[in-house]
Amino acid sequence: MNETSHQKEKTFIMIKPDGIKRKLVGEIIQRLEKKGFQMLALKMLQANRKILVEHYTELKAKFFFEELIDFMLSGPVIAMIWQGENIINTARQMLGATNPAEAAPGTIRGDFYLGPQQKINENICHASDSLESAKKETALWFPKKNYTW
Ligand code: UDP
Ligand code: MG
Repeated sequence: MNETSHQKEKTFIMIKPDGIKRKLVGEIIQRLEKKGFQMLALKMLQANRKILVEHYTELKAKFFFEELIDFMLSGPVIAMIWQGENIINTARQMLGATNPAEAAPGTIRGDFYLGPQQKINENICHASDSLESAKKETALWFPKKNYTW
């Protein structure tokens, strides 16, 4: 990957229903902006089962899959496209470990961990884990390329 495309790297970031209920939307957006990243698109929507099964298709066989889908259907989500240098890796670092109990201090999942009553699926935010998944997820959630930048 050359330097220019690396700087223009895009990723898909989604605030999960718990992040919205807990009023962490502004905090998450502010952290990404402070890191120098550019928001390209944002929409709030109630997801449906079809899009979530496609989004999490690699996890279909996992024991936690149905509970994860139910949780993701429990309220609206905020789907976003962000751009910036090395953003795919950096956004993952900013989120922290999948299990919020293990997420490092300074990460979104670590700083807002509530304690053992917080379920592992309720980890506030999603970010694509590779260039391949960033492309897939961006196309899935923004199929009409209906964002302006
Ligand atoms: N998840 C879960 N139980 C697990 C692992 C994951 O409920 O043991 C949920 C959690 O919400 C996680 C999502 O499934 O964010 C997707 O899992 P993945 O391994 O892709 O984690 P992520 O990429 O979100 O860190
Ligand atoms: Mg993942």
